[in-house]
Amino acid sequence: MSTCRICHDDGAHRSFFPKEMQFGTQVRFEYFQCARCGCLQIAEIPTDLAAHYPPNYYSFRPAEARARHGRLYRRLQKLRVANRLAWKRSALEALLWRFVELPYEWRQCTPYLPADRRRGMRTSFLDVGCGERSWWLEALEELGFGSLTGVDPFMRGDHRSGKVSYRRCDISEVGGRYDFISFHHSLEHIPDQDATLRAARTLLSDDGTCLVRVPVVPSYLWEKYGVCWMGLDAPRHLYLHSRESMRIAAARAGFVVERVFFDMDEVTLIASEQYLKDIAMFGARSYFTSRDDCEITPAQVAEFRTLAATLNAEERADCAAFLLRPA
Ligand SMILES: [Zn+2]
Repeated sequence: MSTCRICHDDGAHRSFFPKEMQFGTQVRFEYFQCARCGCLQIAEIPTDLAAHYPPNYYSFRPAEARARHGRLYRRLQKLRVANRLAWKRSALEALLWRFVELPYEWRQCTPYLPADRRRGMRTSFLDVGCGERSWWLEALEELGFGSLTGVDPFMRGDHRSGKVSYRRCDISEVGGRYDFISFHHSLEHIPDQDATLRAARTLLSDDGTCLVRVPVVPSYLWEKYGVCWMGLDAPRHLYLHSRESMRIAAARAGFVVERVFFDMDEVTLIASEQYLKDIAMFGARSYFTSRDDCEITPAQVAEFRTLAATLNAEERADCAAFLLRPA
């Protein structure tokens, strides 16, 4: 019998046996879902975790060059963000919202930033489990923020990029105080949830914010795809939290969950659909390997995009963002 590592219940948990499907080794791992708090978790944490993160793991690959808008458009985007920070409901802002689209990273940032611009721009950020480079911190740098630190025990070594300083270490080795600590799809990879969240609480200023973005259960995708749900990503995802298990883990570390947002996109739908057909994430015939040589059609992608938006609105999506505040 397995004991839940979040609520410590050792009742009759249900077991599942998903396969490794990102690289397609097809090795099966045992997971169980806690009957009490709902947390889906790997039964035994692999002793050789690092072996499951080969050098071609996505967060360690160099960032792809992105198409940039012209300089004027970029300035308008920054203005739109500055307006958001100033919390102005001006006519200018209304115009900007209508005509200026923000890049994905910026759209992710702005809802979570302090509403007061002057205070907001002094915010110090720590991104935990950022991989080799943090798209989040680099987007914040572009917006004008200057206190930016990213940590990951698996990065090749300490380095610096502009104002972002990267350190190869675990959160337990970080010192200082931060106003904003983020886990962008990293907490589910970390064996000790309690120690990690407690470390985050210690590093967070008393009026700070901790943002935890993770795959979650229950969801439409877990119901529909079961062990073929991409969110499981066996054996790298050690925990698939429920709202209740996140609340329990957060409370034990001295946090309250202030808000929950759902923020999935079409990627998990596409990948899960492929896993059903035994197509690995980065295997042959995968949408993520070649757009020309895959079974996923552009019409399906559009459909999945619409479905993702609906699932977010209905809170049945498979990815959520938990906004934690010190209790
Ligand atoms: Zn539990």
